[in-house]
Amino acid sequence: MKRRTVERLVIAFLFVATCVVFADRVSRPPAAVSASAPQTAFSAERAMKHVLAIAQRPHPIGTAEHDRVRDYLIAQLEVLGLEPQVQNATGVGTRYAGAGEVQNILARMPGRQNGGPAVLLVAHYDSVEAGPGAADDGAGIAAILETVRALRAGGPLAHDVIVLFTDGEESDLLGAAAFVREHSWAKDVAMVLNFEARGTTGRSLMFETGPGNLDAIHVLRTVPGVTAGSVFTTIYRTLPNDTDLSELALLGTPALNFAFGDGVERYHTSNDDVSHLNTGSLQHHGQQALALAHAFADGPLPRQHTEDAVFFDLPVIGLVVYSEKWAMPLALVTAALAVIVAIRARRESTRFGRDILMGTAAMLGAVILSVAAAYVAGLIISLLHTKLPWGGAPAWSPVYWAAIAILSLAISTACYVAVRHRATVSGLHVGALLVWALLSLAAAAIAPGSSYLFTWPALIVALAVLLENGHGLLTAKGIAMCSGALVTAALLIPIAYLVGAVYLGVTAAGGIVTAAIIALIGWLLVPLLEALCDGARWSTPCICAAVAIMLVGIGALTVHKSDMHPVPSRLIYAIDADSSDAWLASKASAIRTNAWTRTVLAPFAQGPEWIAHFFFPPTAVVAKRVPFLPLPQPAIDILSDSATSDARQLSLRVRGSTGTTAFGMRVTNAPVISAAIDGRAIDTKRYRLHMAEWTLWYWAPSEAGALLSLIVPAGSKPRLEILAYSLGIPKLPGVTIPPRPANVVPVQSGDVTIVCRRFSIAPSK
Ligand SMILES: [Zn+2]
Repeated sequence: MKRRTVERLVIAFLFVATCVVFADRVSRPPAAVSASAPQTAFSAERAMKHVLAIAQRPHPIGTAEHDRVRDYLIAQLEVLGLEPQVQNATGVGTRYAGAGEVQNILARMPGRQNGGPAVLLVAHYDSVEAGPGAADDGAGIAAILETVRALRAGGPLAHDVIVLFTDGEESDLLGAAAFVREHSWAKDVAMVLNFEARGTTGRSLMFETGPGNLDAIHVLRTVPGVTAGSVFTTIYRTLPNDTDLSELALLGTPALNFAFGDGVERYHTSNDDVSHLNTGSLQHHGQQALALAHAFADGPLPRQHTEDAVFFDLPVIGLVVYSEKWAMPLALVTAALAVIVAIRARRESTRFGRDILMGTAAMLGAVILSVAAAYVAGLIISLLHTKLPWGGAPAWSPVYWAAIAILSLAISTACYVAVRHRATVSGLHVGALLVWALLSLAAAAIAPGSSYLFTWPALIVALAVLLENGHGLLTAKGIAMCSGALVTAALLIPIAYLVGAVYLGVTAAGGIVTAAIIALIGWLLVPLLEALCDGARWSTPCICAAVAIMLVGIGALTVHKSDMHPVPSRLIYAIDADSSDAWLASKASAIRTNAWTRTVLAPFAQGPEWIAHFFFPPTAVVAKRVPFLPLPQPAIDILSDSATSDARQLSLRVRGSTGTTAFGMRVTNAPVISAAIDGRAIDTKRYRLHMAEWTLWYWAPSEAGALLSLIVPAGSKPRLEILAYSLGIPKLPGVTIPPRPANVVPVQSGDVTIVCRRFSIAPSK
């Protein structure tokens, strides 16, 4: 074989191998450690016994099953030699319009300096109504119990460790809010470690930090096997997602937040059960919990205020950490190197400026075409699986992810071949390198946490180009370029895989992100692209396109419908107690995604406006009319109604009805100046969404209901709409609901009955 053919094959092999190795590295959790491990080690096998006990059935706030789990956890903390306590309070959300009666479980493990600053270990012990919550958040609770056991097996630590098992996380983060607002230990917290799940498998990713994370990340660096990157914390801050940490952020302390998120289709469904939980994910949660609890509680606690860090994990090296202050100087060095490369390469062509422009244009063209191709391919693949008799969820398939990646490589190489014989290799490369340098500068200026993704690849590749000229991969320059390629792949392939095949889905936005990243990588490494294309041969893009098509064929044959990839669904029996109308309803989006909901609700029409308020944020619903059942109704008592010259002050007792899990309150016809629930002021400043009308959900109400105080303008006549919900749907005469197929599962609250009543509160004389 000719040397150039060997090089082509080596580069093609390296591309595939790095994609496989780095995608696997970011998604495969460590193996579960057996129960025979030393007592000071974390064992997922030992922790699983807690998950088995907790996740027998759904245990949402306010249910008997919830109380069973609460009692189990109290007993387990006693077994560990701690003195657990229950914090009973009305939690009032500051992120969402929610409140309710919570029971947080707390215990304090004294350190050598008994009292004073402490490390807080947090997970939530409630689940959603639709599923038993083995991963979310049974795994987090079990990880902490096993961590405390292992810590107790060693000697005492310097600082106290506080265990907080929050209640009502799934109900507007109420338990965490109650801890921050009312518990005396909240002021002692110096470091927060929170454990969560957004799927049932995968690695436990450190995805969020408190503000000013440099000290905390330096400690995280000491823990082996961490998966983290400051780009995740940067992205997460812009997402509308929350965990208890969103409420605990009010403590203003450093914090680290961990979650595994592979298998997102099982999140908040009946399939978040013990059989779907990966014990390796639990192991990864726990070994980090133990190592960090030990490091923080026995070492110097992180300073309350530091700058943020840029950080990322690399194979062998582990976590690389530096202050965000260095992001801009490093980007400037990168840009300077790119300019030096350009000046040095200028002699090679008489029309060098034009060559650079062609490189820039061809690279941007490759990115745009790859993105467009990924979008179209995603549509085709989705359509293909709706037509195939075996169905399937292609969005989460590694095979389709690989197909999109190779398709992007086909387009990148095609763009390269198209311009190659009109420009010099070095000119094209400088064009691409300058774009990378600009990306690095822009990232450093706008989102420094993401700058490393552009800075380090461009910096190393620019340095490699500056080495003495040689031919072939086995020269100093070739090896340096391959090292640059390796670092680039180590930083960017895990992002492409996580975003593509784990979080967003390859047939949707995830495929688009994957395609853009592969095109950017390809063009950063123009010297390797040149070797791969053997000058300018069309055979390379053609082979890549053929491989992509072949992978789509393999995907079509191997991706099948399974309960690992269920379709979520939720039905609502909605009663208007004022008009005696009743509907069977669902989110309008469910009509598009599953045939079962279409069948149940046919012939469907747009539902009445008030049903939309069951969802947060209010969402379009479809509904069909069904018989009205005279179910118990929500009620209000006006306890007092007083007026000053400009305000009317109302004190109301609001009750759902027997079996009510929660009720929503909405005030129309008058602006609410201020409000309080169970004697606690409601602060809406931090709400995720601005509410056009005053609303509040109240969870787990007792028989006595909730005490609502409203201040409205004097003389106004507010109308209070109460939406009470209970679990399940009663038997409706003349309506048959066919059983759900195996891959259609209830999600969030599952099927519910909601009863709506409205009360006009006229001013008293
Ligand atoms: Zn959770």
